[in-house]
Amino acid sequence: MIKTFIAFFIIIGFANTAYAQTELPEKIIYDQEVIDLVNKAKAEMKAENYDAANKTFRKALATRKILPTDLSYLFAETLYVVHQYQNSLNFVNKYLGLAGQGGNYYEKAIELKGLLQAEFKKIKTCDYCNLSGYRYVSCYNCDGVGSTTETCYNCKGSGKTVCPKCLGEGVYITFNSFSGKQYIECDVCEGKGYIICPVCLGEKTLTGTCSVCLGTGKIASSTICNHKPDQIVNGHNHK
Ligand SMILES: [Zn+2]
Ligand SMILES: [Zn+2]
Ligand SMILES: [Zn+2]
Ligand SMILES: [Zn+2]
Ligand SMILES: [Zn+2]
Repeated sequence: MIKTFIAFFIIIGFANTAYAQTELPEKIIYDQEVIDLVNKAKAEMKAENYDAANKTFRKALATRKILPTDLSYLFAETLYVVHQYQNSLNFVNKYLGLAGQGGNYYEKAIELKGLLQAEFKKIKTCDYCNLSGYRYVSCYNCDGVGSTTETCYNCKGSGKTVCPKCLGEGVYITFNSFSGKQYIECDVCEGKGYIICPVCLGEKTLTGTCSVCLGTGKIASSTICNHKPDQIVNGHNHK
């Protein structure tokens, strides 16, 4: 029996090194640093200072010490409030996996999952935000057009280049035994000495897909989307 228990403990220990098991017969003694951080985060949540709680939970995770199972739920709830829905889903799933139906926050965790699914649905159907729920704004690089026009690199904006045949002279010289040196008007440039730039075809500029927005004309901002046409006014940020 003792052997069975040890084997069980080792397996669980390997599967979830960072989390305590509620089923364990012995009471887990948490590190004081962890206890302090969790209490601090709880107080911050109570004061509705979720940005602060978010930071405190991350500090607790960074200790790499054994953490109470409940932390997963509390952190998930905090992440939901600060709109980090994918992270929130990961932690609520982690909580449900660790605590199961007997967990202190089982009902709340199920409720949170429902809220998250609703948010994912809203984001998916909203045209004003990206898949993380951040509001789109007009691309600064192309002013929302999706393409940019730049001076032609080949002719440097003149629309013409030196004639490759006469090298700008407009004429070229031939020799024959009767008349000697003879100047002949260049047939490529018709004596002008230059030709229309073959890169921009005389347009002087080149238009291409915007390298910032890749042609969409919009980029995600750091503002949380309200999924309504009126943006910025109701939008807000989290640090
Ligand atoms: Zn918010
Ligand atoms: Zn020429
Ligand atoms: Zn050109
Ligand atoms: Zn752009
Ligand atoms: Zn939206």
